[in-house]
Amino acid sequence: MGKVTLLRPKGYAIVVDPVKGVLEYDTGKCCHCGRIYPQSKHAGTTCIKCCADTCGHPDCDFCIPEEKRFDMQEKAARQKNKIII
Ligand SMILES: [Zn+2]
Ligand SMILES: [Zn+2]
Repeated sequence: MGKVTLLRPKGYAIVVDPVKGVLEYDTGKCCHCGRIYPQSKHAGTTCIKCCADTCGHPDCDFCIPEEKRFDMQEKAARQKNKIII
């Protein structure tokens, strides 16, 4: 994988690949987990509450706002005594 030099929540990512050069992707951001996914591979659903797309992960089928989800991840990380981002 190349190095991601620019990543926008809703827009595009520019990846600098040593072999292929500069690659650009249209991206979308999951309104629930915040994951960035390539728009071309989007398999998620649209959340009616957020009026935004999800990444398609089963956990994201339910509406859990991103901030709440971060809190949950933080708690889980503390329990495991390591930080996962
Ligand atoms: Zn998601
Ligand atoms: Zn939602």
